[in-house]
Amino acid sequence: MSESDDSMSEIDAQEQNHSNGVGGGIPDYIMNLDNIPAKLPTHLELHKTRVICNIDAPQHTDPINYSGAYAALGVDNSVRLDNFCQNFKVEVKRFTDEDIEFDMIGIDPAIANAFRRILIAEVPTMAIERVYIANNTSLIQDEVLAHRLGLIPINADPKLFEYPDNAGGENNEKNTIVFKLHVHCVKGQPRITVKSDALKWLPNGSELIADDTKPNAESKPKTFTSFRDNHDSKKKFAKNPPAPKNLDIILAKLGPGQEIELEAHAVKGIGKTHAKWSPVATAWYRMLPEVVLMEDVVDEMAEELVSKCPAKVFDIEDIGEGRRRARVVNARACTLCRECIREKESEDGADKKEKESEDGADKAIVIKKKEWEDLISLRRVKDHFIFTIESTGAISPDVLFTEAVKILEDKCERVITELS
Ligand code: SF4
Repeated sequence: MSESDDSMSEIDAQEQNHSNGVGGGIPDYIMNLDNIPAKLPTHLELHKTRVICNIDAPQHTDPINYSGAYAALGVDNSVRLDNFCQNFKVEVKRFTDEDIEFDMIGIDPAIANAFRRILIAEVPTMAIERVYIANNTSLIQDEVLAHRLGLIPINADPKLFEYPDNAGGENNEKNTIVFKLHVHCVKGQPRITVKSDALKWLPNGSELIADDTKPNAESKPKTFTSFRDNHDSKKKFAKNPPAPKNLDIILAKLGPGQEIELEAHAVKGIGKTHAKWSPVATAWYRMLPEVVLMEDVVDEMAEELVSKCPAKVFDIEDIGEGRRRARVVNARACTLCRECIREKESEDGADKKEKESEDGADKAIVIKKKEWEDLISLRRVKDHFIFTIESTGAISPDVLFTEAVKILEDKCERVITELS
């Protein structure tokens, strides 16, 4: 085979890869040609990768995803799977039982937002859905008490349960966890506070009789659940029996002689149906802040800059001969309050700029403040997200994120199946 045959077959193979979706975008043999510029000019690279935060409004907020956006410059802007795999990173910064902060680098804002929405609304948990009140002589109304019970995070793995059958199916050990609450404040004794630790798990299911019909001697009275095998559930939860995650949530206060007796049934659900099933207190992200000093800020101006920033982003370093210079020490802490580039308002509240022509002293201040905007560039990195997940405690935050990834993966697979 000749040399030209070899190179043609290589191109064919690459084209084949391309048509198979390997790499995506423009084929490698075109991208590897010498005269194809690999990078954008600096100012366009800045617009593509950073949000510029000016005093009045942010600029260049759109992610530029169109593959031909820079075609005139000969730069390929298509999404390439190999680039994504090379650039994508997750770095965990803080991790406790209740929250996690990590950086997701090299991802589109739409994907970061998809994770946020899935975490809030689509990762399932167990929550109290039905409350059967046998007696409530406390001051708190039945419906308010039921609502409070619904919001208690339940420590039980939702993967061990099925969704309830809302079409009239039975409530059994596969879809229901039953808790009992029976508290009584004895007459002559001080008031008592009823907390979530008063909820006791009933592994055998409901104990309340479901209707008034008298059971005959042979048959068992009908309750609100039909548990068949409590041994299974006992074994399943031997190490970690279902219970409220926090045992000190106040539910009610009882005066002497008052009593509450009820059963609370927890079922599996998602936050999209009701916020009580949402596994997170909050899930949010922000783009990585970038604070750049465009010129040296020295002496009094350096001190002024340090004192202006409430987030302690700047510090002062000694540069010899009694001179000091401001430097950025903690850009990640920047909250984008823009205080460092803001102009001061005059005592009467008017903008200094308006007084520029009337008063020479004010004019000096205006010039100085205008300099701040030129001296400091506040930016956000468009594909670097600082992600924070605060769990309600029912599910560990790292598990929550893993579940969110699986849910997004399932969705993608469904779309691919539908399209193919
Ligand atoms: S925007 Fe606010 S937090 Fe950020 S550097 Fe400026 S003053 Fe500090």
